[in-house]
Amino acid sequence: MVLKVLGSSSAGNCYILENESEALILEAGIRFPEVERAMNFNVGKIDGCLISHEHSDHAGQILSFPRFVDVFCSRGTADKIDAGEKSKMHAVSANTPFEAGRFRIIPFATKHDAAEPLGFYINHPETGNVLFATDTSYLPRRFSGLNNILIEANYRMDILEENVRNGSVHHAQCNRTLQSHMSYATCLDALLANDLSQVNSIILIHLSDRNSSAEEFRQGICEATGKNVSVAEKGMIMDFNKTPF
Ligand SMILES: [Zn+2]
Repeated sequence: MVLKVLGSSSAGNCYILENESEALILEAGIRFPEVERAMNFNVGKIDGCLISHEHSDHAGQILSFPRFVDVFCSRGTADKIDAGEKSKMHAVSANTPFEAGRFRIIPFATKHDAAEPLGFYINHPETGNVLFATDTSYLPRRFSGLNNILIEANYRMDILEENVRNGSVHHAQCNRTLQSHMSYATCLDALLANDLSQVNSIILIHLSDRNSSAEEFRQGICEATGKNVSVAEKGMIMDFNKTPF
């Protein structure tokens, strides 16, 4: 399995877990023609698209997705998305497992300023257990047997505070960030609260353009966890298997 990053910012989020014959799309914040291109137009293998919440950088391009793509999100998210007749929406609930092809998925509730936001704990024979947690001020639970992790590290408090001081970030924006996104420190705490012994890769996602420092985040999490850590960037493709071999 490989992970393809089509976008990991407020400009649009989309990731693909993909092998020769299967693909799971995470988020619909990038237009389908771009998704299709990234998959060399082999779209028949798409098992589904998971959407964490209704904000446009995660769900805003769903209308460009064809009807044959099964879309999974919470009822609250589905009600907010104007997907018309174009997509097949399946409402899923926190803590109730479901399957998309060979991907077995357990949604969990996240902490974000959206109707009914979800994160996803995903299992596939090739990837092992994958945590996908974005747009959440903290991780409300622990996860067992993790093998690969995609987790938000949106801002660092000192950088955010400096940006408020110098006026490049408004107070209201700052408060919203604090309440709905995960800081570097919280991300680190969340990682260390879980058993990382079987983790192969940690990918830091959804870094704020202004309030983060990609290389410092990567190095810090790498030193604290002893794991292989990357920062998601548009266009990145990496191996995403249960073990490195
Ligand atoms: Zn959001």
